[in-house]
Amino acid sequence: MRFRTELDPLAPYKPPRMSQEAAAEHGTDGYVKLTSNELSFGPLPEAEAALAEAIPRANRYPDRHAGALREAVAAANPGADPMRNVLVGNGSSEVLFNLLQLVEKPGEVIFPWPSFSLYVAIGITLGLQTTKVPLTDRHAAKPEALLSAVTDGTRAVIISNPNNPTGTYLTLDEVGTFADALPDNVLLILDEAYQEFVSDPAYAGSHVLTLEMENVVCVRTFSKAHGLAGFRAGYGIAGQRVADYVERVRFPFSVNLAAQVAASASMRTRDKIEARAEFVIRERERVQEAFRAAGLNYVPSQGNFVLVQTGPEIFEQAGVLVREGDPLGYPGWSRVTIGDSGENDRVIGALGGV
Ligand code: PMP
Repeated sequence: MRFRTELDPLAPYKPPRMSQEAAAEHGTDGYVKLTSNELSFGPLPEAEAALAEAIPRANRYPDRHAGALREAVAAANPGADPMRNVLVGNGSSEVLFNLLQLVEKPGEVIFPWPSFSLYVAIGITLGLQTTKVPLTDRHAAKPEALLSAVTDGTRAVIISNPNNPTGTYLTLDEVGTFADALPDNVLLILDEAYQEFVSDPAYAGSHVLTLEMENVVCVRTFSKAHGLAGFRAGYGIAGQRVADYVERVRFPFSVNLAAQVAASASMRTRDKIEARAEFVIRERERVQEAFRAAGLNYVPSQGNFVLVQTGPEIFEQAGVLVREGDPLGYPGWSRVTIGDSGENDRVIGALGGV
């Protein structure tokens, strides 16, 4: 049996260290998990209620169009039509996969680097070349460098905005200027998984670009601010042609019933989601201030995480699991998810040992 040789460099996803491993090493009970940029709060009560109501219907396939979910997403993104402009998926991971399934091969996908590792995995899986364009000295995407990297073979550019793992971002103006300069046969995918945590108003509103430009699409998730990572729901906003093609390649029932009802209810209650995001933004400032006071170098972040220049050990000794920087392209650094107040207190307490 032979397999495609381009798959050889791929390795299964290596999850962050688990508490059992860390406890065995440091002998600390009761770890808090700040490894994966999840929300420390459970789903909203509205989402839980919708889920309870849906359980008796689990014998039936879900709505294959995820109509209610598309309606809720469209209502939150003025100008978007639920069926013509909204993409849905089993997490935003699937939306990203579906989008890269659309582009011609052979071809190449470009992204700033370090960034979200899934872009490499999806690109390689789909038989695309992957080209990494280094971030600036300030750990941000550089639109001019991305443009210079575009070739005749470039089919797509993905920008994680804000960027995981650095938390740096481009404003809407910067994104718009980049989109204008990009050849219109190159798909621009704006991965906005962390958009709810951006406090700079100059960032907001990219979905308007996606409705104006056929080659621009934004992708978002219910896994972060909505606290629904376990259910796997993501969405995107795109022009009608992209949305039509995504629907051709998407598995018919890829968004399961639980994900559909919980995500729709959460989106309809988004004032509460905004309040939670504001809490995370305030807590992010508190954690960053503590890093500053401890004399640690960190990257000012607009996500629900902060990249800080110290290994994971000081946190682990205090019972806090963080993402070690090595697999993220930042050896010797750690990415610390912003948790609830008590969890963040433990992060700050850990700094006493610096
Ligand atoms: N994009 C980025 C930038 C991410 O960091 C993540 C999750 N870590 C995702 C997409 C995928 O999220 P999900 O599939 O859970 O929606």
